[in-house]
Amino acid sequence: MGKDIKSLSLTELKDELVSLGEKSFKAAQIYAWLHKRGAESFDEMTDLSKDLREKLKNNYDIYTCSIEKKLVSVYDSTVKYLFRLHDGELIESVIMKYKYGYTICVSSQVGCKMGCTFCASGIAGFIRNLAPSEILSQIYIAQKDLNIRISHIVMMGVGEPLDNFDNVMKFLDMITNSDGLNIGMRNISLSTCGVVSGIEKLLERKLQLTLSVSLHAPNDDIRSRTMPVNNRWNVDTLLSVCRKYTQVTSRRISFEYAMISGVNDSDECAHELGRKLKGMLCHVNLIPVNSVKERSYKKSSDNRINEFIKILEKYRINVTVRRTLGSDINASCGQLRRGENNT
Ligand code: SAH
Repeated sequence: MGKDIKSLSLTELKDELVSLGEKSFKAAQIYAWLHKRGAESFDEMTDLSKDLREKLKNNYDIYTCSIEKKLVSVYDSTVKYLFRLHDGELIESVIMKYKYGYTICVSSQVGCKMGCTFCASGIAGFIRNLAPSEILSQIYIAQKDLNIRISHIVMMGVGEPLDNFDNVMKFLDMITNSDGLNIGMRNISLSTCGVVSGIEKLLERKLQLTLSVSLHAPNDDIRSRTMPVNNRWNVDTLLSVCRKYTQVTSRRISFEYAMISGVNDSDECAHELGRKLKGMLCHVNLIPVNSVKERSYKKSSDNRINEFIKILEKYRINVTVRRTLGSDINASCGQLRRGENNT
């Protein structure tokens, strides 16, 4: 098995080529084939000599994602891919069309360790982290297959991005680089279930991305019942690192809050949330909980959601309700998983 060439930065690739006895400028050519043109084999790199292509083949592999299944929503043309990785593992990605362009929701791990009770991604357990190349490939393959340019990325697919910190940071570096697709950091959102150690590390980098935090409950009692990560870092600890994050980066945090009937949607919950978030540079995004067939959670009624919003607004908190896309193909938040058992 060769080395994963698509996970190498341009600088690393230059060093590799020199150690293979090649000129370092060839690296830029190869890098462009991989990251701008989405080449999936060395034979496509027709402007390289046959010798060099052979050498590359003997030393490296190009990890890609093959399309195992593709589903298109009849409601809103959202597309969901089930991708097979080089070792046979499966992940999902979703492409959504908005007025401002195409957004992809990428996975960061095969499965998930976090065990949130309302989410499908952890049901079949955790297998492994994705390499930078495997996160990139989701974008390259979707662009090629749909013949589109993707302008926005949300790291909200399968997995906990801050539990795969180094690979996710390298991915961000490569996707925003002008040697690659050059997507603006401001067009990227990263969502975490509340891995405080990861948020601490992230804030030091002062990236211009949007941090989304999956809060889903205003207190430890409800949050620990639905999100095991809360036993490691509780609501106060999480909110205090979030406050620090907004102060250090001057970036607004987006709190995700899945509205689950009878679980976290009472007036008291709204008041408690309002009190705790008041004055923070943030925004609350309510998501009527999506169904997951193994679970029996019900979404809150529109009425309940409206009441909840009114209360939060009294605390001067900016609130929106997330529009659900791709609901007929299980492509909505919390519905992605690492298996084929998903339609
Ligand atoms: N692990 C990260 C990335 C996943 S993002 C995180 O937890 O943030 C997926 C988003 O969908 C998260 O906000 C998650 O909490 C939310 N989600 C999970 N299950 C859901 C469901 N059934 N309905 C609505 N949102 C859900």
